[in-house]
Amino acid sequence: MNIHNISKTELHCHLDGSVSIALIKQLAKEQDININISDIQVDQSCNSLDEYLTSFDTILKVLQTKDSLKRAVIDVAEQAHQDNIKYIEIRFAPLFHTDLGLTVNEICDAVNAGAEQAETLFPIKVNILVCGMRLHPNETNIKLFTDINDYKQDDSHIVGFDFAGPEEAFPTKAIQEAIEFTSTTQSHLTLHAGECGCVHNIIEGIQLGAKRIGHGVAAVNDDEALSFIKTHNTLLEICPTSNLQTKAIQSVEEINIRTLIEQGIPFNINTDNRTVSSTNLNKEYELLHEHNLMTLEEIKDINIKAVDHAFISSIEKENLKTQY
Ligand SMILES: [Zn+2]
Repeated sequence: MNIHNISKTELHCHLDGSVSIALIKQLAKEQDININISDIQVDQSCNSLDEYLTSFDTILKVLQTKDSLKRAVIDVAEQAHQDNIKYIEIRFAPLFHTDLGLTVNEICDAVNAGAEQAETLFPIKVNILVCGMRLHPNETNIKLFTDINDYKQDDSHIVGFDFAGPEEAFPTKAIQEAIEFTSTTQSHLTLHAGECGCVHNIIEGIQLGAKRIGHGVAAVNDDEALSFIKTHNTLLEICPTSNLQTKAIQSVEEINIRTLIEQGIPFNINTDNRTVSSTNLNKEYELLHEHNLMTLEEIKDINIKAVDHAFISSIEKENLKTQY
């Protein structure tokens, strides 16, 4: 057994932040858009989440057509397949893809078609999460989620909602109304929270119905918060390299992986943004393995357990597990 050949589950991967440089360059060329590739990737000199988030403005310029969105999903699914991922949920914020007039319906058609085609090209199951943005007014996010619900059909790969974006200026309380709306839609909810040291954003997110928490590193040293997370069987979507770059943590040891494992707190490891962070899922596990934070057996185990937290039916979960 080695890291590569362990079957994996990725639940936190952003479409725009993960499109390969090769595809970004190709799309820029085809659409005659001038972009500076050096603006896309960050390294350890990045100072904050706000600085990290500026990379996306450049990438989004080439993701404003149905064709580019469909190809982006296939491209990210192919990268996931190269990590030996059997199931991935790719998330994206539809409202950032409307600059050239695409409607939410057209955007959903495009990413759905991408997921559909990716599954025929690679042995991987691909689903999509729709991100509301913390910085958008509640009415805007509610309108978006309403459009998504109107769109969803039986063969839709859109399986849940998320809230992303700056957390410090827009805490969970500020987006409460939009979060509550998602619980009326029977859609699964995950939520970026606890990425900037605010443990209350995690607790409030779970109280409002989030089944998973994106990052959640603010909770890893807080016994009360960890016990709350465990009681609610909420999974933490941990993204080590991204957290190092946004300065959510200063060293990988700060994630407290050993405590999470020993206390049985549900978590898995994710890339967040493959291209912006210059990472892939094998690299993320190598980082933890090299620091003696996870054994190969533990890596195998948490990837199987993460299937239980995927936004799919029980039957799909059982079927998926036979591939691990
Ligand atoms: Zn994220």
